[in-house]
Amino acid sequence: MLNLVLFGPPGAGKGTQSQKLIDKYNLVHLSTGDILRAEISQGTQLGTEAKQLMDQGILVPDEVVIGMISNKLDSNKDAAGFIFDGFPRTVAQAEALDGLLKSKNSEISCMIALEVSNSELLNRLLLRGKDSGRPDDANAEIIARRIEEYNNKTAPVANYYKAQDKFCSINGIGSIDDIFTSISTVINDL
Ligand code: AMP
Repeated sequence: MLNLVLFGPPGAGKGTQSQKLIDKYNLVHLSTGDILRAEISQGTQLGTEAKQLMDQGILVPDEVVIGMISNKLDSNKDAAGFIFDGFPRTVAQAEALDGLLKSKNSEISCMIALEVSNSELLNRLLLRGKDSGRPDDANAEIIARRIEEYNNKTAPVANYYKAQDKFCSINGIGSIDDIFTSISTVINDL
């Protein structure tokens, strides 16, 4: 099984690259942000509670996203592999993911990190906010909070995979196709 964690700060291009990777490698795309936004648009209680945090740029509780991922793994038993996008975002989530995959006799193949400077991220997110309709893309203060959450809680997740010798970093600035080629080279060398 090919199980990839696509890693990087908000606006690094994880969603864009995921779309290309699922086609090429026949993977199931699990984006916790997308799953949460679906809960919001369906008006579920989980969605209503998560929205209050998401709109402020704050992470939702670990147990909420771990439960969502666990359900998705169970409902995609025949998948050739998964691409985890926006998850794990804390070390506790990474530990839980290892446990969930182990119980299915599987494991993470590699974390691929997209490296993008803070100024480029801010520009990309403000641009995306013009037509994404996402409240958390709409103003610079909330974007700054999301980047702060990333630096405090999510960046340490890279060390978790480095310690397992499963970390690879890619330059996330350039054309979409060039970045995709770099990611594909990493995957083909696994
Ligand atoms: P994203 O679409 O990945 O940028 O996520 C949007 C928002 O959803 C984040 O700012 C968080 O509030 C929430 N979220 C998404 N994934 C996670 C996660 N793995 N852990 C905690 N919160 C998350």
